Amino acid sequence: MIRSTLLLLAVASLPVACAPAVVSDPPGAAVQVDATATAHRPPVVSTGLPPTATVPATPTAPPPSPPPTTAPASPTPIATATTVPTPTPDRTILCSQRLPDNGLLTVVTLTYGLSRDFEPAGLVGLSGYLPNDVTLGYPTELRRIVVNPLVDMITTMQAEGMQPVIISGYRSYSAQAIAREKWLEKEPERANILSAPPGFSEHQLGTVVDFGSPELAAIVGQEDIEFHTYFYKTSEGAWLLQHAHEYGFTLSYPREATEITGFFYEPWHYRYVGVEMATFLRDAGISLTEHQLATEPPPCIPD
Ligand SMILES: [Zn+2]
Repeated sequence: MIRSTLLLLAVASLPVACAPAVVSDPPGAAVQVDATATAHRPPVVSTGLPPTATVPATPTAPPPSPPPTTAPASPTPIATATTVPTPTPDRTILCSQRLPDNGLLTVVTLTYGLSRDFEPAGLVGLSGYLPNDVTLGYPTELRRIVVNPLVDMITTMQAEGMQPVIISGYRSYSAQAIAREKWLEKEPERANILSAPPGFSEHQLGTVVDFGSPELAAIVGQEDIEFHTYFYKTSEGAWLLQHAHEYGFTLSYPREATEITGFFYEPWHYRYVGVEMATFLRDAGISLTEHQLATEPPPCIPD
């Protein structure tokens, strides 16, 4: 079973100010990202944050309270660029040795990676919970905590006439390394766009799902397409954008957050963070990465 994972990004739909992070890294950035991780990627905070934002009262980031019914973002303790906590790591472990706990909010960026030894707890195969027309017969695994919300969400989508499919879930460090090698061989210039370096993918957390849609092939005009920016044009992509937070899922790499997340827009890539956090992020109009970089101390020392 060979997956023809074709990811064609529609260049025209990318942000105008083509982002520094992944793509501005020179080709061959697998090495480059590792070697320059100290490159001091300080938390970049967009200018779209509420001007009234203040410094969080505490250095740690407690689960945010649901925003009040009025202006969702304004009372949120999001730091501005000048109030981001000092970039000096206050945790002493190298990112390459980081073995986070099993909380749902572990930061993973192109700076803050995961140990090759990190494997999340409670992985289960989706085939026991979802039919083959959803899993496509792939042996996809996710953490157990994600399964019920995912099944509920898919059930709702199906009841509304959609046909969501799950293309990818948990990816081990070694699986990510293999994928990376494949893209470096096939398309070295685009390897960074096609696959994150091992240890720097949220998929290693076991709480991330890549969705697909049967409508995508016709929209893109390519029979075997699995991932494409135009996923947002499909019924499934549009529905997820509007409703995924109700089931605890958040879009990790929104179009407007490329510079902050370091990843291009991935309208198919949803991460389970729980309903409270997902709703907070949606109401505030920010990505999880943006929220965490602005409110949490660095989780590890980049290496
Ligand atoms: Zn993904």
